Amino acid sequence: MKRPRVVSERKRAILERSPPPSNRSRPHFWLKEEKRSDVEEALAGTGPLPLYISRTAEAEMRNHSISSGNQNLEAMGLLLGDVFAHSKKSYTVVKNVVTTDLEASGVSVSFHRNGFETLFDRLDETDFDYVIVGWYHSHPGYTCFMSPKDIETQQRMFREDFHFAVVLDPLKLQIEAFTLHGEGCISVPFAVYQEEHEDPYGRKKLSLKPR
Ligand SMILES: [Zn+2]
Repeated sequence: MKRPRVVSERKRAILERSPPPSNRSRPHFWLKEEKRSDVEEALAGTGPLPLYISRTAEAEMRNHSISSGNQNLEAMGLLLGDVFAHSKKSYTVVKNVVTTDLEASGVSVSFHRNGFETLFDRLDETDFDYVIVGWYHSHPGYTCFMSPKDIETQQRMFREDFHFAVVLDPLKLQIEAFTLHGEGCISVPFAVYQEEHEDPYGRKKLSLKPR
């Protein structure tokens, strides 16, 4: 079986870069009211938020969780992006997501054992150098939180500071991001940012409105 391209086996220095500007960053429209004002406050303040998710990645995760949720199944995939630093704080940017065939039910999900080849192909097709910065999965109808099994996955696979877990509930229209903290996970503020897109016909630059 083909293995995915490994971008770097070495720990590389974190690049200094300004986070997506606040006029192109918004709280997610599925975010609960009190969390939404936290994000707005953080965006108005100085220093980066811990996590920024592109409109593209956000839409992919949301659509995946909605189409699976319509069949009462959980969805899951990996978050691809990069880690940067600004004002002595590091932050994670999710540029895209990948997924593959899943072994899913209404309350559990994992990659199908035959799905890895597709997953590795999709990782290979990614047109930017990426770091796997976490995972997303959905809880259709039972709200966003990290279950004991989710926390175990986070501890086993995503234990770095730049690793996050995004949980979506496509039936209750909720989303939340988490990271490890002590023995458990805590909710973290994140923004959805609008990228500048090249027009596929190469005529002009166009940009998508953030949600
Ligand atoms: Zn879960």
